[in-house]
Amino acid sequence: MTDSLNLPGLHTYSMECIRCGICCTRYQAIVSLDEVQQIASYLGISMNEWVKLYSEPRWHSHKNYLIRHVNAACIFLKYAGKISYCDIQFVKPCCCSDWIPHLENTECREGLRKNVGVFTEESSQ
Ligand code: SF4
Ligand code: SF4
Repeated sequence: MTDSLNLPGLHTYSMECIRCGICCTRYQAIVSLDEVQQIASYLGISMNEWVKLYSEPRWHSHKNYLIRHVNAACIFLKYAGKISYCDIQFVKPCCCSDWIPHLENTECREGLRKNVGVFTEESSQ
């Protein structure tokens, strides 16, 4: 049986992250050079290796990089069953740590619908 939550204005509420991982499939994280240095050092590789292995090859900038997507998701997104986690959680870039789970986000609502079976008002439209 699925729970159903169909309240008008539901999208205005904040929520706990349910770790569906959908946000990490929709956006490519942007990383500054300092962040690349930090992530590379965490992974025990050089910056050049990091760029070769993990950066988006179509992004051309000397100021920042985009993290590559593989199989339609951030290359650092991993799953334990249905629960997602970030392989570089402790050094993930600001754009990721600044992302707040909220019912305003279509990604979070989609995660609730798919992983928890909670439906917001848009599900019935
Ligand atoms: S770096 Fe981690 S938090 Fe950021 S998009 Fe990739 S998997 Fe998600
Ligand atoms: S889409 Fe929302 S609920 Fe799902 S992992 Fe991202 S922040 Fe968490």
